[in-house]
Amino acid sequence: MSYTYDDQNIFAKILRGEIPCSQVLETEHSLAFNDISEQAPHHVLVIPKGPYVCYDHFATAATDAEVVDFTRAIGAVCKALGVEPGAGGSGYRLIANSGAHAVQEVPHLHVHILGGRPLGRMLKQV
Ligand code: 5GP
Repeated sequence: MSYTYDDQNIFAKILRGEIPCSQVLETEHSLAFNDISEQAPHHVLVIPKGPYVCYDHFATAATDAEVVDFTRAIGAVCKALGVEPGAGGSGYRLIANSGAHAVQEVPHLHVHILGGRPLGRMLKQV
């Protein structure tokens, strides 16, 4: 596995404070903010602060502390949004587009948390 991280991507600039974001949550290793072009009433992006290109890069190269922090941050955002099914919420979808077939636009790992309306089935074509 080999990844080269482009530190000029838009999320790297958000992390450095060079461009603003609508912040939802910040932890030691993660940041969550609203997507600038929301596709549902709730559309939050959660990113690690470290230089990881996509999910498998993060899952194989990040430290245990980063992985735990990122996973807990996703849980905290779900709780803050009130979408947790186990707490009376209506549910949500996590998406981590990675690479060309997934049409990943920003080459810094991000998980989309979408909710607030019925989201339909996941994929319509095989
Ligand atoms: P991808 O297709 O890479 O999974 O999703 C990238 C997401 O980043 C898109 O949903 C897009 O709307 C969002 N995005 C792109 N530029 C910005 C930005 O400058 N600020 C915020 N908050 N979101 C952005």
